[in-house]
Amino acid sequence: MPAFFLLLMPILALVSGLCWVRDADAYPVKHHEVVVIGGGLMGSAAAWQLARDGKEVILLEKQGHNYSQGSSKGLARIARSNNLARDLWSYLHNRSVRETATLTSFLNTQGYVTSIADVYRTTPVNYLGRMKYADSVITSSKRQKVDYKIARTPEEGAAMFGVQLPEGVFLQREFNDHSGTMNPEALISLLHTAIKLKGGTIVYNTAISDIQWGDNHYLIATEDQHGSERKFTASQVVSAAGPQTGSLLREQAPYLEKLITPKRVFLAFLQIRPEKYHQLDDHARNQLKRAYPVINSSAGTRQGSFYSMFEYFGADGNPVIKIGGHFQRSNINNLEDVWHQRLSGEEIRWSIENTGRYLRMQGLPVDDEDLQLVDEVSCVYSLTRSEVPLVSQLVTRSGEMDGNFVVMAGMSGVGAKGAMTYGRIAANLLQGKSENDPGYVEAAEAVGFIRLKGDIDHLHINPEK
Ligand SMILES: Cc1cc2nc3c(=O)[nH]c(=O)nc-3n(C[C@H](O)[C@H](O)[C@H](O)COP(=O)(O)OP(=O)(O)OC[C@H]3O[C@@H](n4cnc5c(N)ncnc54)[C@H](O)[C@@H]3O)c2cc1C
Repeated sequence: MPAFFLLLMPILALVSGLCWVRDADAYPVKHHEVVVIGGGLMGSAAAWQLARDGKEVILLEKQGHNYSQGSSKGLARIARSNNLARDLWSYLHNRSVRETATLTSFLNTQGYVTSIADVYRTTPVNYLGRMKYADSVITSSKRQKVDYKIARTPEEGAAMFGVQLPEGVFLQREFNDHSGTMNPEALISLLHTAIKLKGGTIVYNTAISDIQWGDNHYLIATEDQHGSERKFTASQVVSAAGPQTGSLLREQAPYLEKLITPKRVFLAFLQIRPEKYHQLDDHARNQLKRAYPVINSSAGTRQGSFYSMFEYFGADGNPVIKIGGHFQRSNINNLEDVWHQRLSGEEIRWSIENTGRYLRMQGLPVDDEDLQLVDEVSCVYSLTRSEVPLVSQLVTRSGEMDGNFVVMAGMSGVGAKGAMTYGRIAANLLQGKSENDPGYVEAAEAVGFIRLKGDIDHLHINPEK
């Protein structure tokens, strides 16, 4: 080769390299080791775990700094270690508690005053169910060494808890450190602080509009709230876009739109009218405090099942009671609009009647008319067929594993309590790491790649379409 060309080669290489980092509109395209899409509980947990492992991470969130639309919205979720016969959920919760302790310890070392109590509020968790399930609840609680009490007759209910239990219904009260409720808003805020302290970047008001597979990296297009476009490249991607997952990954993984169904769920926020609350004596107020959070399956019907918890306390200590129904689901016409949908009269009535009935079961002298609606929210569950979430490498259109692309989706109504564990699993998957703990192995398998392939096969979905 002539000496002239030998001299020219490094210059040509540099120019062609620059072409890689310039898009058609000629502004620089930055490269990142990992792009995480979505700053709800899952994306934030994954980004933290990756940053903690020394990865260079950028988290992109389409909402502003104030999280207002997403499945993680709110101040309280039920988090408990016992869940009938499913030890899987106990592992996910307990591991998440440990991961949260690691997070708050790290923040302490950086001068932040925080503790695990900022995320978890330890309270007894009430579980009301049909008598035929009592034995399995007891067996499971014993196996998991859960500290609990259970009343199985109206007499036991009155003696143990001061409640008026209907015939054929049991009440289990579980007592465990960090069982009770957890606060998604507080956890997301701590995670975002920690991600930045570890050198990660968080960009709000930026939506991913397109993802393409380029030469050894992903090409990611984004749009901010003013419509300005940016492009990134990334070696690895975590998609944690919640209900938007199906449409976002339509190109890469068209099957996800069929496997994950977003459904609208509603939440009513009720308060005992102040004039009534002030009439309640200390016994009644304590009874009220012990009654929440609750999972009530005692009606034995989907319509009659609800979960309920305190969202926050008013200045006078009067709690705002949030109630929703795991099975109160409706179809969604437009994912962008669903968050603004008002509750129907029927939904408000359902919320008040179930809350009133439950409070009277606690011996509280509260009529339905004593309850007032103080807020309402339409929210979204992203459901898989089994209602067990997915945290898996992507199945490509040719049916192979894409080890550089992890999807976290289908978190349904149980994601929050396991979020920190799902984040750990996602970070491990991208790094090809595993863990030996049988609980971890079971959890990773339940949400992982073989499960995802099985779901695709089960529905006879062609991954290409
Ligand atoms: C009403 C209700 C009650 C629940 N109760 C409980 C409970 O008691 N216990 C429990 O454990 N769990 C509960 N859950 C479940 C738990 O809250 C969810 O599983 C969890 O919050 C899901 O988090 P996520 O990060 O997957 O989704 P999200 O919080 O929805 O996060 C997805 C994020 O991605 C962003 N995004 C979407 N598209 C893009 C894009 N193109 N570009 C950039 N960003 C994008 C969104 O803005 C959003 O912030 C409940 C859920 C609901 C809805």
